[in-house]
Amino acid sequence: MSPGKSYDVAIIGAGIAGASLAAEVSKEASVLLIEMESQPGYHTTGRSAAAFVDTYGPAPIRALTRASAAFYHNPPLGFTDHRLLSPRGVLMIARQDQMATLHQMQEDLSDTTDMQILTASEIESRMPLLRKGYAAGGFANSRVSDIDVHALHQGYLRMLRGNGGTILLNAPATALEHHQGQWHVTANNENFTASRIVNAAGAWADEIGAMAGASTIGLIPKRRTAMMIAAPAGLNPDKWPMIIDIDEEFYLKPDAGRLLISPADETPAPPGDAQPEELDIAICIDRIERAFDLSVRRIENKWAGLRSFVADKNPVCGFDDKAPDFFWLAGQGGYGIQSAPALARLAAALLLDRETPEDILSEGLRPADIAPGRPGLKQ
Ligand SMILES: Cc1cc2nc3c(=O)[nH]c(=O)nc-3n(C[C@H](O)[C@H](O)[C@H](O)COP(=O)(O)OP(=O)(O)OC[C@H]3O[C@@H](n4cnc5c(N)ncnc54)[C@H](O)[C@@H]3O)c2cc1C
Repeated sequence: MSPGKSYDVAIIGAGIAGASLAAEVSKEASVLLIEMESQPGYHTTGRSAAAFVDTYGPAPIRALTRASAAFYHNPPLGFTDHRLLSPRGVLMIARQDQMATLHQMQEDLSDTTDMQILTASEIESRMPLLRKGYAAGGFANSRVSDIDVHALHQGYLRMLRGNGGTILLNAPATALEHHQGQWHVTANNENFTASRIVNAAGAWADEIGAMAGASTIGLIPKRRTAMMIAAPAGLNPDKWPMIIDIDEEFYLKPDAGRLLISPADETPAPPGDAQPEELDIAICIDRIERAFDLSVRRIENKWAGLRSFVADKNPVCGFDDKAPDFFWLAGQGGYGIQSAPALARLAAALLLDRETPEDILSEGLRPADIAPGRPGLKQ
């Protein structure tokens, strides 16, 4: 078989991780972005709750999210005609039996300047739908925003094309072999060569790693369910904040006049086209009806997606220690959209042997905490 067209970098997976890195790398290298679906956002990227919450996730994610804010507020010229972030605000709420968790979280996030501690009555006045007496305490973060995920994702794909990059759809990568200093990739029965391979395959990342003879990272995809319901008649939820239970038993987020609700489930599941389970839907409705003064009569739309984690819940970004020139960009869990702009810049610098961007380091991100070979990676 012919070795096919040659690229500096071939990236497997065109979700937000692969698309954002491909766009960054294409500024100075030739890039092939390989996606098995006909729609690049078909899997986790197209199924998120689209929230930008810089107090959410482990410390490296929070640092990457803070370092992404500038891109969201001021993307490059021509990136998109849409506003990428729209103010939302969040209330993290706790029942009386959850106050210990609330205090612990307040301590962990004490470096967050925008965090405002609230009493039960202050919470009720900010969220009229909450049942009286349900919340005993909580805090607000006004920097939380809604993300236009489609505009972000399409902006990166457009940037990639504008820089001469190639996107291959309907093309599952089925073989990866390294010989004579080059990676040989088979996708959709076509062959390509590349100097470096990036594994941005989301829930499938460990499968791609195994195909390349790389180390396993112990990735566990976890299913999360979400659904859309109508807001109570006569109420406009557009100005309401997102509400997150402090133990993440549920969340509720206004979305274009409706309410996105989730039981915040984390059920291990194999890589695939995740679908919502009836039990998770029932649990969601029960938790939402306990907390809020509403009764869920009809679900307008429901879906599930896979959030993929390694043991410490930090992302995995860097070269594999076994397979040569094989780069991981995986394990973004439930935070891969909000942190994508900074993680893509960091990954591009590591992949192309450039200096780590200073603004990302100054947010407290330590590359060793997200390196593939770190201790505590595996479950
Ligand atoms: C319900 C839910 C709510 C969420 N809410 C938020 C939120 O509010 N904020 C936030 O920041 N994040 C959120 N997330 C997490 C976020 O969506 C993910 O972290 C992010 O989308 C992961 O992007 P990805 O590119 O790694 O994965 P994916 O989007 O899954 O992309 C991986 C791609 O790799 C492709 N692929 C796999 N194998 C192959 C192969 N062999 N050949 C070619 N292509 C292949 C797949 O088809 C897929 O398109 C949420 C997730 C879920 C499920």
